[in-house]
Amino acid sequence: MLWPSGAKLLLVIVPVLLIIIVAILSRLLGSKAAPPPSVQSSDGAVHRSTRRLERDLEGQVEFFQIFSVLLGELHAQRQIRQIPPTLVNAMVRMFRPEVAVVLVRRRSTITEPDRENRLIVAAISAAQRQMKVGMEVRFGEGQLGIAAARQRLMVRKDFEEERSLSFSMNQNSGQPEFDVVAPMVAGGDTIGVVAIARPERHYFSEREMIEMIARLGALTWTNLEAYRNVEIAAEVDGLTGIFNKAALLVKLSEAVFDARNNGEKVSVFLFDIDHFKNYNDQNGHLVGDRLLRLLAKLVRDSVRSDDYFGRFGGEEFVLVMTGRTASQAMSGAEVIRHRIEEYPFEGESTQPNGRLTISGGVACFPDDADDSVELLRNADAALYEAKNAGRNRVMRAEPTGLNPVLKNRVRRTE
Ligand code: GH3
Ligand code: MG
Ligand code: MG
Repeated sequence: MLWPSGAKLLLVIVPVLLIIIVAILSRLLGSKAAPPPSVQSSDGAVHRSTRRLERDLEGQVEFFQIFSVLLGELHAQRQIRQIPPTLVNAMVRMFRPEVAVVLVRRRSTITEPDRENRLIVAAISAAQRQMKVGMEVRFGEGQLGIAAARQRLMVRKDFEEERSLSFSMNQNSGQPEFDVVAPMVAGGDTIGVVAIARPERHYFSEREMIEMIARLGALTWTNLEAYRNVEIAAEVDGLTGIFNKAALLVKLSEAVFDARNNGEKVSVFLFDIDHFKNYNDQNGHLVGDRLLRLLAKLVRDSVRSDDYFGRFGGEEFVLVMTGRTASQAMSGAEVIRHRIEEYPFEGESTQPNGRLTISGGVACFPDDADDSVELLRNADAALYEAKNAGRNRVMRAEPTGLNPVLKNRVRRTE
């Protein structure tokens, strides 16, 4: 009789598995029941090696306990700058070193293309005379720089070998002597290094443990960076690079919320380009787009760092001015209007009055409105008035619908 192929396979596998299991069991039992004569002859040695195994095992268990806490902490992290101190704390808990440090690689910029060849101390367990947060180490120099440049974990022994060969190793320039330095690498890029000096606790697989911490740090770093880029992209207007409408509405309601709680003021300046349809018709849509970008840049460069500036849609923009009274906001708006009127924009000579101009409305919380929605509505009404009055001007909103409770509150805080 022919066996079905599945059963045939079982016939082969089951005996093989049985033989393997029996072999493993007999080794285990055998080693317990009858230790080799050399070990049997030395009870002390067995005891010592058992103790060492126990200690190693305890160490591993403790490592994974601390490691799982670290995993949780990094997972909950939303701020990139919190990663280095979190890693330092975990290394301190695990190894109780004299120094634990995390350095991150600097980003290069257009003005400083050489920047990424440096590492910066981002967190350190105990500040040293030669090493504090913010200090820089050159890529490829000293223990930290070499491990970062080579993307290789290095221990004291490696550094000692290196020292006899290499000039750059002698350039340690007073950095503390580290016992282990592990590069933080993700996607082939060195993000930074982690290092410990003179650990009080040692583990069986110390190198692997530090390597795991470094790798986890690097992965969290790149993930958070990607997350932050998505967050930024979601808030930004694609054409002009300033806030989009959705982000601006959130910023405005937060600003009004804060102003209400602190008895402060917040003003908005809503403005719109005059005869922009004509500008597009005369110069083409692409030139129109370029103008929107330039105008956004001009205004963004002239507002305060705690203001929020965004594109509300089409050729309409909003500037949220925190802590500014209506008259302060009116003069701020007037400066912007004047700057745009004076700026020599390309193709503006075909505009009705020969220049590219804007019209706008200003409204102030709590003077002109109860909340952010009303604030925008009233600024829009003032903008409409400015258009009707002949354009190229800024009008102040009419206060509407102030409720008596709020009026009293305002009076008390003034
Ligand atoms: P007013 O002075 O009354 O504001 O007149 P206006 O022509 O500026 O106003 P209208 O609302 O009639 O036209 C707005 C124009 O803005 C029409 C549209 O083509 C243009 N526009 C809106 N969004 C964009 C954009 O992203 N790029 C370009 N190039 N033009 C845009
Ligand atoms: Mg317009
Ligand atoms: Mg418009």
